[in-house]
Amino acid sequence: MVKTATCAFRKASLLCRFMSEFASGKIRFPHSHLLGIEGLTSNVISLLLDCAENFVEHNRQTDNKLSSLSGRTIINLFFEESTRTRTSFELAAKQLGANVINMSVATSSVKKGETLIDTAMTLNAMHPDVLVVRHSESGAVKLLSEKVNCAVINAGDGRHEHPTQALLDALTIRRRKGHISGLLVAICGDIAHSRVARSNIHLLNAMGAQVRLIAPKTLIPSSIAKMGVEVFNNMEEGLQDCDIVMMLRLQSERMSSGFFPSIREYFHFFGLDYKKLANAKDDALIMHPGPMNRGVEIASEVADDLGRSAIREQVEMGVAVRMACLELLTAISTKGNGT
Ligand code: ASP
Repeated sequence: MVKTATCAFRKASLLCRFMSEFASGKIRFPHSHLLGIEGLTSNVISLLLDCAENFVEHNRQTDNKLSSLSGRTIINLFFEESTRTRTSFELAAKQLGANVINMSVATSSVKKGETLIDTAMTLNAMHPDVLVVRHSESGAVKLLSEKVNCAVINAGDGRHEHPTQALLDALTIRRRKGHISGLLVAICGDIAHSRVARSNIHLLNAMGAQVRLIAPKTLIPSSIAKMGVEVFNNMEEGLQDCDIVMMLRLQSERMSSGFFPSIREYFHFFGLDYKKLANAKDDALIMHPGPMNRGVEIASEVADDLGRSAIREQVEMGVAVRMACLELLTAISTKGNGT
C-alpha cells in the first residue's frame, strides 16, 4: 500500500518536474511544426519520448486530467480515413485540457471544391493553436504548414511520413527493451506504400538501431537501400536474430496493379506466423501499426499473443506520444511564424 502510494507520488512528481523545467524554458523543442522524423536529432527524439514517458504513467492514474492546454484550440483536419490516429489525437488534446474540433472531409467544403490551401487559410483565420493534418498526397502537410501561422502536426501524408506513429513505436520499444540503440529491427511487408516504414527508418537510424526491410521485390522501392537499411526478400533469412518484428498492413487502397499473385500466396511467404517468427530472437517483440489484416500480413494467434505482441500497448503509447507533441509544440507556438 505504502509502496504503491510512494510510487504514484514519485511518478506524479516526475511529471511536475518535467513540466516546470519545460515551463521555465530549460527544456525546449526546437521546431515550429512536426512534419516528419527526417531531420530530427536523436536528442530531440529523446526529448519527445521522455515527455511522452511521463504522460504514460500519468494517464494510468484515475485522476488524470491536466490543464496545460486549457484555452488552446486543436483542429484535427483529416482528408483521409482514420480511426485510431484521429481518436488518439483527440483524446491526447482533451487530456491536456484543450478545445478540440474534428473536421471531417465528408462534410467539409473540400467536397464542394475548396482547395487544400483555401481550407487551411479558412481554418487559420479561426486562430487555432495546432492543426493536426492527414492527407493522401505526400508533401501536402508541409505545403499547408507554409501557409498557416500555427503549429502543424503531420498525422500521415501519402507514402511520405507518419511521425507520431514512429515515435509511439519507439516509445513501445524503449519501454519493453530498455533501449533502442543496437537493436536489430525488421520492418516487413508493404514497404512501397508505407509512410510508417519511412518514419520508422529515419527514427531507428537516428537512434542507432539496425534496420532490415523484408518484402517481395514488388513491394520494395529500389531506392530505399540508400536509407541505410538491409533489404531481404525472404522472411526466414531477414528475421534471423531480430529483436523487433514490425509488420505492415498491405495497403491495397494505394495499389494500382497486382503486386503479388494472391493473398494466400502473400501470407504463405510473407505473413507472420509462429514458424517464421521462430527465426527471430526468442524474446522478439511483435508490432503492427494497425489496422491489421488478419490472415494476410499476420496470423491472428501471433497478433493476439499477449506474451510477445505489443500491438495493444502501441495504441496506449500513441496517446502519450501525441500529448507530448501537442505540449512541446504549443509551448513555443508564436502564431506568426510559419516556418
Ligand atoms: N495507420 C497507419 C497509417 O495511417 C498504417 C496503415 O494505415 O496501414 O499509415
